Amino acid sequence: MNFENKTVLITGGASGIGKIMGRKSLERGCKALIIWDLNEQAASEVSKEFQQFEGKVYTYKVDVSVPEQISQTAQRVLQEHGVVDVLINNAGVVFKGYFHENTVSHIERSMEVNSLGPMLLTRALLGEMIAQKSGSICNIASSAGLIANPKMAVYAASKWAVVGWSDSLRLEMQELKTQVHLTTIMPFFINTGMFDGVKSKVLPILDPEKTSEKIMRAIEKQTALLALPLPYWFIRLSQGILPQRLYEWVMRDGFGIYDTMTGFTGRATK
Ligand code: NAD
Repeated sequence: MNFENKTVLITGGASGIGKIMGRKSLERGCKALIIWDLNEQAASEVSKEFQQFEGKVYTYKVDVSVPEQISQTAQRVLQEHGVVDVLINNAGVVFKGYFHENTVSHIERSMEVNSLGPMLLTRALLGEMIAQKSGSICNIASSAGLIANPKMAVYAASKWAVVGWSDSLRLEMQELKTQVHLTTIMPFFINTGMFDGVKSKVLPILDPEKTSEKIMRAIEKQTALLALPLPYWFIRLSQGILPQRLYEWVMRDGFGIYDTMTGFTGRATK
């Protein structure tokens, strides 16, 4: 998928990697960048910041945890801009603490924003992509969708759901010969502020700019699954071949993964 002259919709496009991928879409010559975000003010500032580009920027205040807002705004987008060529399901939230410390509303919100939102928005736009016989959908999951980790049980569950759904949808689109391509991204921590306070013993905290560029290239190359910085196949292979205790030793003592969330503060979304 080439971004030139395309209509691109990014959820959570007002900050972090969503904002960077929006800029990169404009730099690659997209004709319309549609930003959906809960934070109206941040989205409008991004729109002003991106005025220099030829492609137009449109912002919509949407809470992707609310199904009615998704379906109504998706209809508006289709009427106002026509088919969305590239959809990047990027909005995400995380809450602090052990599973038993999470409130019911934290659990519901995590699943609604991170898992259900991408499914409902994709459902609302997919028919038109299938009809025009082209489209790219990129779902931003997380390495937490592959690797279990203490103090992010609900987040891991929500991202695990994204990985399973997104890659199954890829197979469905292939089976139906639709020319709609799915890319599932599973990054380790990225330095955007969402995971402020986390520490990593061995693996580098990822750079937002470089990570966004890798995601853009994965969409262009129609890569099915991209994990960063450890390759996807390496993670699945070690889970498959190592005895459970050895695998956990590698994760805990080798990579220090299980301690990463100890100092996590994150954004003020609590
Ligand atoms: P971020 O917090 O910088 O940006 C998230 C954006 O989503 C914000 O603009 C926020 O306003 C918006 N948003 C949140 N809830 C929303 C809702 N209900 N409706 C609409 N918009 C909403 O986050 P980021 O670090 O850029 O992360 C982007 C994606 O990458 C997320 O899905 C996240 O889970 C995933 N991810 C992040 C990291 C990391 O370490 N930052 C690692 C792996 C995966």
